[in-house]
Amino acid sequence: MIPKSHPRYESLVLRDKIVKAQKEGYLAESAMIAHGRGEAFDYLLGEKTTFPAKRAMYAAVATILLSENPVISVNGNTTALAIDEVIQFAKTVNAKIEINLFYRTDERVEKITELYKKHGYSQILGTKDDDIKYLKSIKNERASASKTGIYSADTVLVPLEDGDRAEILSKTGKKTITIDLNPLSRTSQTSDISIVDNVVRAFPFMTEIAKDLKTQDKQLLINMINDFDNRKNLKEALKLFKNK
Ligand code: ATP
Repeated sequence: MIPKSHPRYESLVLRDKIVKAQKEGYLAESAMIAHGRGEAFDYLLGEKTTFPAKRAMYAAVATILLSENPVISVNGNTTALAIDEVIQFAKTVNAKIEINLFYRTDERVEKITELYKKHGYSQILGTKDDDIKYLKSIKNERASASKTGIYSADTVLVPLEDGDRAEILSKTGKKTITIDLNPLSRTSQTSDISIVDNVVRAFPFMTEIAKDLKTQDKQLLINMINDFDNRKNLKEALKLFKNK
């Protein structure tokens, strides 16, 4: 039990979630390394949601709300850290959720499918029995996608993604949105909208933004998207690390 008074309480709670998920068997061995890399970047950010992250989130939510078939791609880490927050966001913006694992095994997919069911979400895509197609006809696991999900999506939100997958997605012509604490990762660099923030803070924040933007005029959302410059925003995000 971590005492709430511990100066690194929040961070240790997240670590605990990753350790628990590892024991439950739905994370690959490398998941802890990915988490550690994220932790280090978050530490340098002061574990706070920055202004560039908020600006990217507004553009991201506006894009998702104007999309025909938006899909949120989830892996083991995102599930371990923010399952309820992901479900809440998906329901608020009417997006689908699809399982997408770097080291895909039937066992991990089944465990994650069960977890979403247990948390009240049974429509998850990318399951063992789903109809899987290959993006851009690239026959490798990193290009696999559910036929009714990412394969036919116009917008894909890929939190905590690896660079290979992000690159493939960006070549499909779909709008790609990422949540990645590293502004220099290939994922952040190749996405259309890169949110440099922790998934545990970003999802609840985006749900609040969505509740607001859903009541706004469509033209305001279009302007928000047109005014957003991902290159410029990523540069601003990077400067905040240097200023620490
Ligand atoms: P790339 O292949 O995109 O250059 P990478 O090799 O670092 O990046 P991975 O190790 O597969 O990619 O993925 C981990 C990424 O997720 C890292 O960029 C890390 O900063 C980020 N990350 C880890 N934990 C979190 C989190 N909780 N919230 C947001 N991003 C996170």
